Amino acid sequence: MRALITGGAGFIGSHLADHLLALGHEVVVLDDFSTGSMTNLARAADAVTMVRGSILDQADMERATEGCDTVFHLAAAVGVRTIVDRPLESLRSNLLGTETVLRAARRRATRLLLVSSSEVYGKNTKDRLDEDDDRVLGSPLKSRWSYAAAKGLDELMAYCHWREHGLGAVIVRPFNVVGPRQSGHHGMVVPTLVGQALAGRPLTIHGDGTQRRCFCAVGDLVPALVALVADTRAYGRAFNLGGSEEVSVRELADRVLRITGSHSDVVHVPYERAYGSGFEDMARRMPDTTRARQLIGFRSRTSLDQMIAAVAADQRGRLGEPAGTGSEWLR
Ligand code: NAD
Repeated sequence: MRALITGGAGFIGSHLADHLLALGHEVVVLDDFSTGSMTNLARAADAVTMVRGSILDQADMERATEGCDTVFHLAAAVGVRTIVDRPLESLRSNLLGTETVLRAARRRATRLLLVSSSEVYGKNTKDRLDEDDDRVLGSPLKSRWSYAAAKGLDELMAYCHWREHGLGAVIVRPFNVVGPRQSGHHGMVVPTLVGQALAGRPLTIHGDGTQRRCFCAVGDLVPALVALVADTRAYGRAFNLGGSEEVSVRELADRVLRITGSHSDVVHVPYERAYGSGFEDMARRMPDTTRARQLIGFRSRTSLDQMIAAVAADQRGRLGEPAGTGSEWLR
């Protein structure tokens, strides 16, 4: 395939680029480098065709999709910090940007994989959320929910393009993806805690730390994206992709301390202080991945301890300490 990855200089997109190149495919990356970087693409830099531009720009999309048969749409304003600090810009990227991508994919008659998010389920705390479960969102005026609102509409737009125009569109909802190259700058919990532990600073937990999450290794996610876009039975459907090991954030911090050998303290920061008054979070979020397992044999194989160790190795590498390369994540 000749695949365009929007957001290909980001955390997940760059791992996807490495994986596609390793399979012998051609890769084009479109990125505006708002949160992505060429460092993420260090191993792929010579092999990918780079288009520096925005998914909001039709001409950039035209250029980037030329000759492509597949589009992986990952570009988005990501992370609670980004969404809360820059709500309007985030909404534009996450909503209008996706419309531009879908229109370009339709014009070029490519297949398209839309990377949505488990955030679409909002505050639904059901055990093992499946793809048909209800969405429980807070007020649209709480900017925290704008990401979930936009991703939900993105899914609907992709679905309608499939139904009305026959676009080969697949939707995936990843649950808390973790791995080397992920930045803690935008509110992602694992790289943040690992970075604090390695620096000997206190580990900051938002709220009381009883909120429960389930993490998925980027190395388990990426092959599933490729398998799903290649399977016509996936068109017009949504798939949860996530791990199976649920932990509280408090327990996550303890594991980070154990695995990094850090003696840092753990401190609790009220949500209001971290993200402003009225901030809402969800108590738990756990996926049912039966649908993806049945169609493509998806399984989350990497343990949480392995994920933490890989993030720590990656961050030590950036600090100039002996570290892994992250290549062990590319299966
Ligand atoms: P990331 O911030 O590392 O990657 C996003 C990339 O998109 C960056 O390279 C950024 O520069 C680029 N980008 C942003 N706006 C753009 C625009 N207007 N035009 C062109 N490029 C633009 O984040 P990530 O974690 O790799 O996320 C990738 C995708 O996966 C996103 O769609 C995100 O919503 C989704 N997702 C991520 C997670 C997770 O846990 N990381 C979970 C669920 C869904």
